[in-house]
Amino acid sequence: MHKILPKENLRNFFEKLKELGEVHAPVRRGTIFAFSKIESVEQIEFSYVRTMIPPKKYFIQTCEEILRFTPDKGYSPVTTETKKVVLFGVHACDINAIKILDNVFLEEPVDLFYEERRKNTFIVGISCEPDDFCFCKSVGADSVQDNYDLFLYDLGDRYLIDTGSRAGEEFLLSLNLQNPTSTDFEVLRKMLSERDLKFKKTLNAQGLAQIVDSNPSSEVWGRYAEKCLACGGCTLVCPTCRCYSIDEFRDLSLEKSTRTRRWDSCFLRSHALVAGGLNFRPTRLDRFRHRYNCKSSIEWKSGGLFCVGCGRCSAFCPAGIDHVEVLNNLVHLSVMTI
Ligand code: SF4
Ligand code: SF4
Repeated sequence: MHKILPKENLRNFFEKLKELGEVHAPVRRGTIFAFSKIESVEQIEFSYVRTMIPPKKYFIQTCEEILRFTPDKGYSPVTTETKKVVLFGVHACDINAIKILDNVFLEEPVDLFYEERRKNTFIVGISCEPDDFCFCKSVGADSVQDNYDLFLYDLGDRYLIDTGSRAGEEFLLSLNLQNPTSTDFEVLRKMLSERDLKFKKTLNAQGLAQIVDSNPSSEVWGRYAEKCLACGGCTLVCPTCRCYSIDEFRDLSLEKSTRTRRWDSCFLRSHALVAGGLNFRPTRLDRFRHRYNCKSSIEWKSGGLFCVGCGRCSAFCPAGIDHVEVLNNLVHLSVMTI
């Protein structure tokens, strides 16, 4: 279903969204943007390109208790109260990233913490304009087919709203909005094709998974790994990175024992360290190559890459390493040596 929302009615639309739950949207934090709880539509930064921390923070907490242990009951799961959240202003790349997370966390065995938060989140997407780091078009993540409730396309003085779920349809029907005309769809097509031309970065994604996998000795890895600080920042900001580690905390009486999980990064040396001191990826080079391999591999359910081209890892890398540059260099060299 499609409807037209004149921008002067945005405040009403927003007030109605608030009836569904807490509204979280991109807001400015100095020079960066963050999804945050908001009370009024004026707080929203509609023209943001990317937030530093992606929407994954709503579904996987940075650190959370998952099990408690008592001597009489053993381990029991921690139950959490989840509030209804409306995530407003999510871009197509991030909606596609949430789909990848869904494919991981909602497959058997289902992650109950993730499932609970995910089903309580109403996603409102919004169209966007690429900057120097965006390459979502190269990986097919610049548009959305599903995994959202509503999606707003900016047509200038109005939004064309598309529904992606039953909940989205019900919400839209309650608003009594006009249907779009053929002119609205023409404006949308023009807007999308003009946007296509604005991408400045292109990843050579054709056959990338095989190229990365079959070139472990390429000199490209060493060249960039030398610059890398192994800080793990790129994994922290990546909307599809989801590694976590598990810690057990026991007091001597065993009364307050807990098991927690927290975000972890395959870039950190400790991540591949196992009992006995063996480390599967002991060097920075091993870890650098591993991350690129992971991001360039095929997500089996969607058939796309594990990278949605949001550009966060490049935009926020303190060493200035550009994800696309690394991979395009690898592709270029591998073609030269065939
Ligand atoms: S953010 Fe940059 S420096 Fe830090 S681990 Fe990633 S590639 Fe290396
Ligand atoms: S690898 Fe980089 S560009 Fe790709 S999804 Fe992760 S942060 Fe975004």
